[in-house]
Amino acid sequence: MEALQKKARALLEAGTVKVVIGYTAGTDVERARAFFARNAEQTQQLIFDARCCQNLATYLMKPEVKALGKAALVCVPGALRTLMQYAVENQLADETVLALAVTDAGEVVELPKFAAVEEYLAKMPRGLTPEQQQELDRIDKLPLEERWAFWAAELARCVKCYACRAACPLCYCSRCITDVNQPQWVPVASDPLGNLEWNVVRAMHLAGRCVDCGSCADACPEGIRIDLLNHVLAREASAHFGAEPGYSTRKDYALSAYKPDDKEEFIR
Ligand code: SF4
Ligand code: SF4
Repeated sequence: MEALQKKARALLEAGTVKVVIGYTAGTDVERARAFFARNAEQTQQLIFDARCCQNLATYLMKPEVKALGKAALVCVPGALRTLMQYAVENQLADETVLALAVTDAGEVVELPKFAAVEEYLAKMPRGLTPEQQQELDRIDKLPLEERWAFWAAELARCVKCYACRAACPLCYCSRCITDVNQPQWVPVASDPLGNLEWNVVRAMHLAGRCVDCGSCADACPEGIRIDLLNHVLAREASAHFGAEPGYSTRKDYALSAYKPDDKEEFIR
């Protein structure tokens, strides 16, 4: 924590960045919240511990945050993967954000360029957490009808609060389909069919883009495993189109690259 505060102070005092986006203690002591340190004094409020799991990269897409000037971003692994995907989707130019990764030993590593982020990620373990993998394996093994019943029951609990959308760094459209009311594609009220529509539409929009940060499920007040639903779509995109989002800046992700030899057996 001290090393992070020291680094943040040095960056702000030198004028290298205008803001350090990190974490501070939440009003609930068990949770951390996002914090924007804009001067040396404010860096004393930065923390980094087990409570700091939210993917803060989502703030980089907000116009009011962009207006603050160059940012240093305290990054958990999911946030580093998001920077890679932002680069692929042309949402972020190289060297416009300084990524700060905190090692298990508490050291702060500066990653000023996409190439440095890519190199850092290459040394980290890939894939889901053991808990996510275990739950996904359990769901995968269910017969088709039981799997359908599982997801129908999960999604029926959705209260359409859209916290998942707010937390997700890759839900950055300025106008979401859920906010369109002429025609109204997704009903406002919570009901099983509309909930299914909302969550399936969101999952389809994230197919091949989701970086497995888990922030959507963490934010969901109903504890719905939308992280796993989105992972399954990413897994399908990866199996069919070979792209693994979040590990490189190569512009070959499934939804942006047209290849004449793409499989088309799903078109009837
Ligand atoms: S869908 Fe969920 S897990 Fe995937 S990038 Fe968005 S917040 Fe992260
Ligand atoms: S956070 Fe959960 S309850 Fe809220 S809209 Fe998303 S899935 Fe539904």
